[in-house]
Amino acid sequence: MKVLVATEKAFAPIAVGQIRTVTEAACYELELLENYNNISDLLAAVSDADALIVRSDLVTEEVLDAAKKLKIVVRAGAGYDNLDLNACNAHNVVAMNTPGQNSNAVAELAFTLMLYNARGGFTGISGSELRGKSIGIHGFGNVGKHIAEIAAGFGMDKYTFDPFVTEKDIKKYGVKVCNTKEELYSRCQYVSLHIPANDKTSKSIEYDLLKKMPQDAILVNTARKEVIDEVSLLKIFEERRDFRYLADVAPDCADILKEKYKGRFLFTEKKMGAQTEEANMNACLAAARQIVDFFKTGNEKYRVNK
Ligand code: NAD
Repeated sequence: MKVLVATEKAFAPIAVGQIRTVTEAACYELELLENYNNISDLLAAVSDADALIVRSDLVTEEVLDAAKKLKIVVRAGAGYDNLDLNACNAHNVVAMNTPGQNSNAVAELAFTLMLYNARGGFTGISGSELRGKSIGIHGFGNVGKHIAEIAAGFGMDKYTFDPFVTEKDIKKYGVKVCNTKEELYSRCQYVSLHIPANDKTSKSIEYDLLKKMPQDAILVNTARKEVIDEVSLLKIFEERRDFRYLADVAPDCADILKEKYKGRFLFTEKKMGAQTEEANMNACLAAARQIVDFFKTGNEKYRVNK
């Protein structure tokens, strides 16, 4: 049984150690393909793999065609928009994610972005505080819940919109429920995005919504750049001098923002949300255990291509 870990951006070594411990205990062979630049390296390595662990690496029809023995692919992370689920179905490959394993890391990054921005990028100008400000949590899943907990510590006024989570579950976190996303954006100076990228949410954060945000609006995106309609984003930047955008990785229109709206945005150079040793370790351990469990007991609890 061969488990391939294919990561264009490698996990922390200590996290790979977690995968090794679990796979060795199960007497599986482990192969690492880290920091690869060429898809041909992945196609070659996956050809005799029974299980595959990836991060944001694309698992396409081409990869699955090359993976003749593959039975399971696990995305060590929450969002699984990098897995072609139709192709997984067609190739009889079980696709899983490892939900909740990196959510605290992502929430801490969202607050890092908010605090750095609030303090004027440490340039000596007098900034502002988070205490007493309103925060809208768009999507109340694993990351959204961590945002709520941290925001409580900062004394922020918390709201959420997530039609798939019950009011009871939301209120446990001391968060007020909005019935529409329009209500959320109208109420909150800060809006932090924690929805998945899919057919329904792609480009769903658009002009009419952003226009509703109050004075000194700040949109924080540690979800996916694909959920933002960038034509709308540019229009809002043009119309509202008070609007700011803070994001984990730059949008496609970054060059225009850099040229025209300096000082009103903040992007990480590389995707940083899940980049902590703790998050890497949690996700790696979960991925390895899920694979062993799948082969030993048939457990498909975290399957996403049902
Ligand atoms: P999750 O699945 O636990 O939560 C997503 C929440 O969004 C769910 O509660 C769901 O009900 C809600 N939702 C779905 N569609 C919605 C809609 N149309 N309107 C409102 N709510 C909606 O996922 P998570 O772990 O909280 O992560 C959220 C997203 O963040 C992931 O899908 C991923 O794209 C992104 N993410 C980014 C990083 C990073 O490195 N920056 C790391 C982890 C996750």
